[in-house]
Amino acid sequence: MVIASHNAGKVREIGDLLAPFGVEVVSAAALGLAEPDETGLTFADNARLKAHAAATASGLPALADDSGLAVNALGGRPGIHSARVAGPERDFAMAMRTIEDELAGQSDRSARFVCALTLAWPDGREVTVEGLVEGDLVWPPRGTRGFGYDPVFVAKGDSRTFAEIDPAEKHAISHRADAFKKLVAACFA
Ligand code: IMP
Repeated sequence: MVIASHNAGKVREIGDLLAPFGVEVVSAAALGLAEPDETGLTFADNARLKAHAAATASGLPALADDSGLAVNALGGRPGIHSARVAGPERDFAMAMRTIEDELAGQSDRSARFVCALTLAWPDGREVTVEGLVEGDLVWPPRGTRGFGYDPVFVAKGDSRTFAEIDPAEKHAISHRADAFKKLVAACFA
């Protein structure tokens, strides 16, 4: 199966989530596949277009993830533009600071991570699901694990950021894990 992502953090997490299924995985980057433009208006649209592009180009089933951070006080932003806030250098220290500056003075610091997953086959069939995890943003960033906005996100009921917890703990509660459970249920129910 191709993991249709060039994001090393996502490829690692999806590989961990797929490990119990004994599926042989290869990343789109390792196959030299081009990254399609993410022109969709929703997480699900973008997951679909990435999965179908990789499945068509490789002739293999392809799993794509489109995900991001939705901040309630910012009307759901950055949402599908979460990666873009970090600029071409993928500078997430700067991206987290940008979101914090926009939130200045807001008492509502609630946010959610959202993840759409599409599994597409070369013949055009697909399954698309969406998962989420609710939480709050903290400042300053804490922890060195995970990727992206993990150092500022604390899941409801926890006091540690996603960058402070063990990867196995993140895999039990994350938006990606939630979507993954739904994908497995949809494919094997
Ligand atoms: P895209 O799906 O490639 O457009 O990018 C999603 C972006 O959302 C990532 O680059 C991260 O900034 C953010 N993101 C998605 N999932 C996570 C996560 O599990 N932790 C932290 N940030 C995430």
